[in-house]
Amino acid sequence: MRVVFIGPPGAGKGTQSQRLLKYLNVPHISTGDLLREAVKARTREGLLAEQYMNEGKLAPDPIIIELVGKRLEKPDCLHGCLLDGFPRTLGQARALDDYLYDRGIPLDGVLELKVDEEVLIKRLAGRGRTDDEPEIIHQRFAAYREQTEPLLEYYQEQGLLETIDGVGAADEVFERIRTALDRLEDRAWQH
Ligand code: AMP
Repeated sequence: MRVVFIGPPGAGKGTQSQRLLKYLNVPHISTGDLLREAVKARTREGLLAEQYMNEGKLAPDPIIIELVGKRLEKPDCLHGCLLDGFPRTLGQARALDDYLYDRGIPLDGVLELKVDEEVLIKRLAGRGRTDDEPEIIHQRFAAYREQTEPLLEYYQEQGLLETIDGVGAADEVFERIRTALDRLEDRAWQH
């Protein structure tokens, strides 16, 4: 399956991704992880993205599209992947659609992990990442609301969106994800 995983900072996407990967048995494409690796390795993309990341802003679309494009070309992605934290803008979503369309590959669905912002701010306070400081968190939420939330409607219109309540024990939330995946699979069969 080829699935996009969307959610605001701290919604539990990291924890749920690990479970989803095992369940779906597909490679994990996390643009956050790819960027952090690129920053460490001091690559061109890493150097370009670093300042945006430190400020809690989204890195420019061309860098991200290039990074993901390269990763999707690898043979392990042939039969599916979990796209985690990508796309995050309409530009990225359109680029992904074009990429898949050109290769005749379908996107099976989009999972939105939904948690109230108040709950999230409390959760993030305990995480200790450098981009988890209050001002930066605020910026990351603004980026989510302004740039990423419009994707939900975009995918809703394509009949691909499944929204999951992200509040509860990790096992409970994963059970909801599994049910949503079943619905997406049924829908894909009908097409
Ligand atoms: P994450 O680990 O997914 O929260 O990503 C950490 C940071 O990397 C974000 O705050 C952005 O600065 C950057 N980033 C990750 N994915 C993307 C993306 N798809 N588009 C733009 N910036 C991204």
